[in-house]
Amino acid sequence: MNILVVDDDRFIREIISAVIQDANHTPITASQGDEALAALDKGGIDLVLTDVEMPGLNGFDLTREIRNRFPNDWFPIIFLSGQSDEKHYEEGIDAGGDDYLTKPVSPIVLKAKILAMERIANMKKALDAANSRLEKLSSQDPLTKISNRRDLETNLLKEWKRNKREQLELAAIMLDIDFFKTYNDHYGHQQGDECLKAVAKLLKGELNRSHDLLARYGGEEFVIILPDTDIEGAEKIASNIVASLATKAIPHVKSQAAEHVTVSMGISSTANNAETPSALLKQADQALYKAKDSGRNRSCTFSD
Ligand code: GH3
Ligand code: MG
Ligand code: MG
Ligand code: MG
Repeated sequence: MNILVVDDDRFIREIISAVIQDANHTPITASQGDEALAALDKGGIDLVLTDVEMPGLNGFDLTREIRNRFPNDWFPIIFLSGQSDEKHYEEGIDAGGDDYLTKPVSPIVLKAKILAMERIANMKKALDAANSRLEKLSSQDPLTKISNRRDLETNLLKEWKRNKREQLELAAIMLDIDFFKTYNDHYGHQQGDECLKAVAKLLKGELNRSHDLLARYGGEEFVIILPDTDIEGAEKIASNIVASLATKAIPHVKSQAAEHVTVSMGISSTANNAETPSALLKQADQALYKAKDSGRNRSCTFSD
């Protein structure tokens, strides 16, 4: 571990650093609060050992500042203080510290504390890693690896608010693969899965802006959200998708719409006065039905 030692007394910094090195960790020293914060800003510190009585920021103020400044980046903080009364101990833990040792500190006790804190810090790291893996899994469709419906809903709400704030138009395209039931019946479910993956990949390739969202909405249905895009822009993307699918030409001999896999699309945008994100998707869905009714392999745009 990289252990930050904060103490205004050079002699104490040297003794503590020697104990840290003896325990096979790396000491980094600071003689006061500001210097400690500068070291923490650089990153890579795993544990902080800090004096309490120092000129400038005292150890408790420093700890409050650290917890404030790095709310998502937890590491243990241990106080090393000349004061041993209970009130002091209480204030230290209250300020965001994790343990409290009184000076002079026994090297054996300090090493044991470092080991205990290292264990906790490692568990925290493993937990954070597991959480971010879970976060990813819970927002991703396992088959196509694009966003799932849950992730779409979260991000659509964010984009909805941002576009409203910035007075931008936001468009949505609802897509559904044509005659996909007969595709599965003819080519088999496994080939159906491969087709879904290929369509997802193709759709992704049609989106260029970093804020564009593509999600698998349900079985063979996808949604595209296009922030800062008007109806004409969304229609252009829809026609590019029709053309791309024709070029890709995934065979579908049982389709009545074409000889390859095609999609039908419904388009709407906030220019149609939907009050909520789900109302916008509903408008796109209605337009999708119109596209299905008018022969599939095309897009239709919502109108009242
Ligand atoms: P339409 O042109 O009107 O959209 O007809 P369709 O056959 O595509 O629509 P329908 O809703 O009747 O059938 C959708 C089919 O999509 C049903 C199911 O077999 C297939 N499907 C849904 N999810 C999956 C999936 O994860 N994998 C595979 N292989 N097929 C799926
Ligand atoms: Mg001091
Ligand atoms: Mg469907
Ligand atoms: Mg379908």
